[in-house]
Amino acid sequence: MRKFAVLTRAKNAEVHEGNIPEVGDNQVLIKQETCNICTTDYGQWLGLREHQPYPMAGGHEGSGVIVRKGKNVREELNIGDHVALAYDYCGECKSCQIGKTSECKEVFNPFKDKNEEGYYGHLGFATYAIKNANAVIKMNEEISFSEMGFLEPLATVVSGLKKLRVSAMEKIVVIGAGTMGVLNAQVVKAFGAEVIMTEMMDKKIEAARKMGLDVIDIKEHNPIEKVNSITNGKGADAVILAVGNTKANDQAIEMVKEIDGRILLFAAGHPAPSINVDSNLIHYRKLELLGTYGANIKDFNESATLLNNKNIDVSKLVETKVPLNDIQKAYEIASTEGNYRVSVTLQ
Ligand SMILES: [Zn+2]
Ligand SMILES: [Zn+2]
Repeated sequence: MRKFAVLTRAKNAEVHEGNIPEVGDNQVLIKQETCNICTTDYGQWLGLREHQPYPMAGGHEGSGVIVRKGKNVREELNIGDHVALAYDYCGECKSCQIGKTSECKEVFNPFKDKNEEGYYGHLGFATYAIKNANAVIKMNEEISFSEMGFLEPLATVVSGLKKLRVSAMEKIVVIGAGTMGVLNAQVVKAFGAEVIMTEMMDKKIEAARKMGLDVIDIKEHNPIEKVNSITNGKGADAVILAVGNTKANDQAIEMVKEIDGRILLFAAGHPAPSINVDSNLIHYRKLELLGTYGANIKDFNESATLLNNKNIDVSKLVETKVPLNDIQKAYEIASTEGNYRVSVTLQ
């Protein structure tokens, strides 16, 4: 038997039981150690995600140990290996063939299809999970399982930053020092660029500063003026929006350099924010507004390299660990403003 968490309705998470499925030829059975709670998960727990149905057995930031292996699984993966999970993809459709595996439509859709237990969702918060081996990535055993769970969020950051084309010595502003803001900032630094963050919550400001990041406290300073002075009146080369709100969007337009500035819309907001911008201004200033969402298998592998080589330290982004039986409490902590990732322990 296995146990897994289910959202039956807003504000209600339960632990249900089911059978461990058979392992297919191209699959592995993973004894899952942890699964971290993503914004997508706790957003639904809060009742803020109308497009995500119930009952939802969600979760997608899982990690664990391979305990069974199908006969066609590549040699690199073996029983006992520590692994983290990427997005499923078929490998054969047109999107997959050009490397855009996140656009693959030939796989399970967690918001539309029911899983083997009869629920929506990826069954992430499950004690055992069956996964197609092509979406399973081997991880360095020196890293904790909770940290391995950052493979997916970090992959989305890698994907976004490629689109933003960050280069060394640029000055990049990251608006918002939540989990995704800090991950963006760390990877921008790894790319050799300079990072300035803006944030209003004391807890996040202190935590980000402890991680060696420069943060403008927007309660004390006007962030637009401050960015302007730090960049000697030039403005930021690029701005990453790691929060989804209209005010931040508008600030980004003002903070970015006059000509050829780039803005990455990393975060969604619910209800949907807007951008108050005159399109002539985008034209004359030659601005780039870039969207990003999800990650391809290549991004997942690059994310794994960053984690496995310890180029990025995500240990301080684990707010706390909560056992599966206390899933309700885990969601409460995860959805408390200012908290980083809550890692649900599954064994
Ligand atoms: Zn996630
Ligand atoms: Zn495909």
